[in-house]
Amino acid sequence: MSDVALESITKRYGDELAVDGVDLTIRDGEILGVVGPSGCGKTTTLRTIAGFETPTDGRVTFDGTDVTHVPPEERNVGLVFQSYALFDTMSVRENVAFGLKMRDVPEAERHARADELLELLDIGELADRRPTTLSGGQQQRVGLARALAIEPNVLLLDEPMTGLDAKLKTRLREEVGDLLADLEVTTLYVTHDQAEAMAMCDRIAVLADGRVEQVGTPAEIYRRPKNEFVANFVGSSTLLEGTAANGRVDLGFAELDLDASASGDVTVAARPEAFTVGEGPIDAEVTGVTYLGDRTQLTAALAGGTEVTLRVDGIDDYRTGERLSLSIDAERIHVLE
Ligand code: ATP
Repeated sequence: MSDVALESITKRYGDELAVDGVDLTIRDGEILGVVGPSGCGKTTTLRTIAGFETPTDGRVTFDGTDVTHVPPEERNVGLVFQSYALFDTMSVRENVAFGLKMRDVPEAERHARADELLELLDIGELADRRPTTLSGGQQQRVGLARALAIEPNVLLLDEPMTGLDAKLKTRLREEVGDLLADLEVTTLYVTHDQAEAMAMCDRIAVLADGRVEQVGTPAEIYRRPKNEFVANFVGSSTLLEGTAANGRVDLGFAELDLDASASGDVTVAARPEAFTVGEGPIDAEVTGVTYLGDRTQLTAALAGGTEVTLRVDGIDDYRTGERLSLSIDAERIHVLE
């Protein structure tokens, strides 16, 4: 296991700036999620750690040692991609043992190690099968076992859950998250799915246009998004304009304590749970209703025309045009930079 650091990494492809001065550390044994919209540089960042890309500028270190120009096969990284890239001519056991074979580990030893990992991932009974006869979720586990077999310095996962159904994703999210936490493998987890990152990662880096917008624990990112981009990419937020002075903000329809010092014109992000429907001083009119299953998401227009998003428990029968009384919780708003 290693501490992995990217120091001022820039990657250009001709005129295309894929990664733009990224500083990022994956601490020993942690799972760092990298999230961001398509094309923001997630895969390029991962490939730079693997050694498939040489940065235009900056350096990569493993435990303080510069590996920027070390070829991939000498970095001891474990890779899991969306396409599982398993070898169909080999059994599951042989697939998992493949990296060890390349390292001249004797057959009995590498097969024992493969079986141990397959047991750990709860697919021990599949060891003699061919990958093509497995479901997507089973193949995903085989891919993970194969990446772990070499006891990698760092495990790199690139959208490994894509293509799996929602239920299986949720289950694997928990199982794989627990397993990686138990094994204390330094892991980079690339996904465009912020919910997946929130559930599985110790910390999350939010990327946009090749730059890191914010790094923090899932709770930090959710509760204290740095800017509008993060506030909207991770979860949903209503952005409210206000005037700040003396630790308070005047939003026009409410005056609240602020969680950070600011003065003058400010933008505040309010999570859906900042609003409570019922007895409250804020008048609003329902403009949209979306059933989410266990909850209902409403959009509502305030007197000044500002539209807010909020959620209510259960499947209450709200209708467009209905009048609401809202209150807003100062603890669940955050002033943006
Ligand atoms: P996605 O979520 O769609 O996979 P991503 O965040 O992983 O996207 P990257 O694949 O890292 O994004 O790409 C970042 C940018 O660099 C994109 O604009 C992409 O078009 C560009 N890019 C990536 N690889 C190359 C390449 N080999 N040649 C030219 N441009 C590239």
